[in-house]
Amino acid sequence: MKIDEVQRMEPLAKKVLLVGWDAADWQVIHPLMDAGKMPFLEKLIDNGVMGNLATLEPALSPMLWTSIATGKTADEHGVQGFIEPAPKGGVRPVTCVSRKVKALWNILMQNGLKSNVVGWWPSHPAEPIDGAMVSNRYQTATTGLRGEWPLPEWPMSPGTVHPERLAETLAEFRFHPSEVQEDAVATFMAKAPELDLGKDSPYVKRMDSMRKIIAECTSVHGAATYLLEHEPWDLAAIYYDAIDHYSHLCMGFHPPRQPHIPKDQYEAFNDVVESGYRYHDLMLGRLMELAGEETTIILISDHGFESGEMRPKTSKGFGRPGPAAWHRPYGIFVMSGPGVQKDRRVAGAGLLDIAPTVLRLFGLPAGADMGGRVLAECFEKEVSLDRIPSWEEVEGECGMHPPGQYEDPWEEQEMMRQLADLGYIEEEEAGDGGKEASERAVKRAVADRQFNLSRVLASKGKIEEAAAILEGLVAEQPEEKAFALRLSHLYLTLGRMADCRRLAEAAIEQARAARVERRAEREKKLAEQEDGADKIAKLKPLDPEWVPAEADFLLGCVAFGEGDAEKAMEHFHRAEDRKLRLPDLHIQMGRVHERQERWVDAERAYRVALTVDEDNATAWNGAAQACVKQEDFRGAVDAALRAVGLRYAYPDAHRALGIALAETGKPGRAKTALQVCLRMNPKDEAAREALDRLEGKAEMVGAGA
Ligand SMILES: [Zn+2]
Repeated sequence: MKIDEVQRMEPLAKKVLLVGWDAADWQVIHPLMDAGKMPFLEKLIDNGVMGNLATLEPALSPMLWTSIATGKTADEHGVQGFIEPAPKGGVRPVTCVSRKVKALWNILMQNGLKSNVVGWWPSHPAEPIDGAMVSNRYQTATTGLRGEWPLPEWPMSPGTVHPERLAETLAEFRFHPSEVQEDAVATFMAKAPELDLGKDSPYVKRMDSMRKIIAECTSVHGAATYLLEHEPWDLAAIYYDAIDHYSHLCMGFHPPRQPHIPKDQYEAFNDVVESGYRYHDLMLGRLMELAGEETTIILISDHGFESGEMRPKTSKGFGRPGPAAWHRPYGIFVMSGPGVQKDRRVAGAGLLDIAPTVLRLFGLPAGADMGGRVLAECFEKEVSLDRIPSWEEVEGECGMHPPGQYEDPWEEQEMMRQLADLGYIEEEEAGDGGKEASERAVKRAVADRQFNLSRVLASKGKIEEAAAILEGLVAEQPEEKAFALRLSHLYLTLGRMADCRRLAEAAIEQARAARVERRAEREKKLAEQEDGADKIAKLKPLDPEWVPAEADFLLGCVAFGEGDAEKAMEHFHRAEDRKLRLPDLHIQMGRVHERQERWVDAERAYRVALTVDEDNATAWNGAAQACVKQEDFRGAVDAALRAVGLRYAYPDAHRALGIALAETGKPGRAKTALQVCLRMNPKDEAAREALDRLEGKAEMVGAGA
């Protein structure tokens, strides 16, 4: 397709400023705004729309920011993790070379529009776009990290800045962690100056991390404000990762204090997250000023961050392993500017909607291969919509790296493996020292990528494909709990109960063996102590029948799938007694009650799930359905509205909403809800009947009048 065959529409914006705050969450922001502590964000919201932004599975930031910029999921865009194979063996942080499709700035370049892009993850090496790009390596210091003074040379990696003419100027805006004075850190940790900073102090590491976070986001802000002022732009896309870092560092200490957090540590760090958000509010204020009133501003985050009861106690979470266990499935969305509605909430926006919406702001159609939609309800006037088959097929220079200039690291890795298999190269000769370690790192990167890909595919309903990938991983690494756990959940969805039971039983064996091993280690340690024998004698013997709570949960799901509701409940109760804090557990219990038509119990179970996670669309929908059955139609309307607010593509919830609205004397809105349900699921008989009834009624009323 040629660029002049693309039909343009009336633009809705003159310029667009897209600001990314990694991991920003309304649950943290609302109390701060209520206390007047984020005045600039408040001003932006007063003049615009706001809402949740649903994330994608898995909620890993480089994949998500690439989805935001491309409108595509990770199976399509190719960035599938944090690292990629490095050309000389081993691994390196993921680069934009792994990205296979056009980002917004590439599409805009094809349409004669300029972009300034700063810090986007991943964006190294900077792409030769029309405009300027500062890559995500810009802010990272690689030397001088041991407190050397004067600061040693701190060169930027080649490829950090495009165009080259800006490199020297922009290098000056970088802020080194060593330049962050103690009183600057104290702005974020008021108690820091009082801390004992002896060599072994637990605070020293956090102080150093704070220096790094402050320096890096200040560098990004410096480059961004310089470009906004001095370089022409139609789109400016600026990405700050610091809120994610502040949150990973100190959300455990954020108020309210959790029982397991020691008081002195709570007092030392409980202001860090708040101060981090306030710092971002100040930076936002400056960006708003530089952008001017005529610019449409969009502020987003890629996912939220647990700040309440759901905060994990460690970084290892059940089913959501690693630091991502802290990520909440809803980020923030704010849009403000000429023609945008004022002071309004929007519901059901998702990450994939950002690219089509930004394109539409410039009068450009989305690609039919983009999964999201234009957030048309945000505008005052009706918005015309159009799609072309794919921007990938539009010919012409777009500022992506020319093919061949940078090899695709995954292809390269595959090629090396094939050459090794054929005996052309020795496996061992792939690197310089630490050969084994670097091979292990590559293997892990490949496995992580496969795992992430399976999660993307599963989230798109491609369950069989996802399961096939996981079966390969489980066969290779049966000891990796996360792989087996995901696979067992896919087996549940596929109705492969026997396979699921087999995995659950293997997991139980593994967990029991690990427990025995841990006990043996403990006894060995105790035996070295003077009164060790006594202590060992006092240890409670291990129960050989012990089952980990997660396995009970799985076995309960299997029993339920096999139609044995009683047995299922037994397993679920045992998991509950073992304090498994998992909304899904209570949702499953709700389903068992539903099956047995115990609506009061079902509603209660869903509400318990909501006390653990109040933004759980499935639980709100379950509560809505149970309310309808109990003829509590007001309760049903409330719950169904929450469900569709969180997940718009949810036909069951729209049906419950429609039925309940009809019963509470709102036939017009009821009809709309039922029509939305039927548009999403034309086979929904109950919705069809309810709609027929409403229309029949309406006709009779009409005939009588
Ligand atoms: Zn993130």
